[in-house]
Amino acid sequence: MSIDPSSAFQVKVQLEAEPNGKEPCLGGQLQDKAVWVDESICIGCRYCAHVATNTFVIEPHLGRSRVIRQDGDSFELIQEAIGTCPVNCIHWVAFEKLDELRSQLEALDLQDLGKLPQVSRRVKRNISD
Ligand code: SF4
Repeated sequence: MSIDPSSAFQVKVQLEAEPNGKEPCLGGQLQDKAVWVDESICIGCRYCAHVATNTFVIEPHLGRSRVIRQDGDSFELIQEAIGTCPVNCIHWVAFEKLDELRSQLEALDLQDLGKLPQVSRRVKRNISD
């Protein structure tokens, strides 16, 4: 059976879906939200990553949770993960805020949770002085 190559040009073009009010740029009550972890507060307990496994991962360098995708788990599962967080550092935010929030976190220069905080060394004083 031969296929007529010209048939490729006869397929109807799929039109873009009509606006439904859930586009992030439209705002308002129907606005979809993005999930975001405030890593400055996260204690790295991993609860969220065990519940919504397609959404949260523990970032290997800092040991804190981070959202890797927004459509990995159902809203209910993400909400359940939020409920497990002992320090309430997972939030629903507007998509448009993500870049700004990410920049704010980068500016904090967070420390690795797996390491002890750096303290300045004490200078040993000779008691006999
Ligand atoms: S549950 Fe909260 S504190 Fe624990 S890893 Fe997730 S975001 Fe961090």
